[in-house]
Amino acid sequence: MSLSLYKEKRSFSKTPEPAGDKTKKRSGQLLFVIQKHAASHLHYDFRLEMHDVLKSWAVPKGPPYALDEKRLAMPTEDHPLGYLDFEGTIPKGQYGGGTVMVWDIGTYELLEGNYYKGYLHFHLHGSKLKGEWKLMRKRVEGERETWFFGKAGKGMRALSKKRDDSSA
Ligand code: MN
Repeated sequence: MSLSLYKEKRSFSKTPEPAGDKTKKRSGQLLFVIQKHAASHLHYDFRLEMHDVLKSWAVPKGPPYALDEKRLAMPTEDHPLGYLDFEGTIPKGQYGGGTVMVWDIGTYELLEGNYYKGYLHFHLHGSKLKGEWKLMRKRVEGERETWFFGKAGKGMRALSKKRDDSSA
């Protein structure tokens, strides 16, 4: 777990994103955030606190709501814990240029699996998302690693368009 790739991709004199040198006061509870990111392609960045960084996936279609529904989740570089409450505008021309909104934030409990196994089953306690989801890695020889974000436990009613467009 390292932030070197995160730092390499950004110039902190140009982006308002956190440089990642601060460490969060430990609360004992693990946190997650989903940021709605209107970059060149709109997507949702799903981040789970793990070993002092935020493991991150870009989910083009956002979280699934129906039981067993799966959405593509492309792994992205680890982000600093300071990114949890980041909202703002990354200037055009910078990496990830566009607006970032905290779409949901809260705590999570790991129920099963671990990152290295490529399987995580967890319970989210967010302001929008409440319930179980999972992340599953699919390995294909010679290709970039792909993950899927799936609904577990039971289904959840999809959010209204208005709620989907508002900050947590
Ligand atoms: Mn993003």
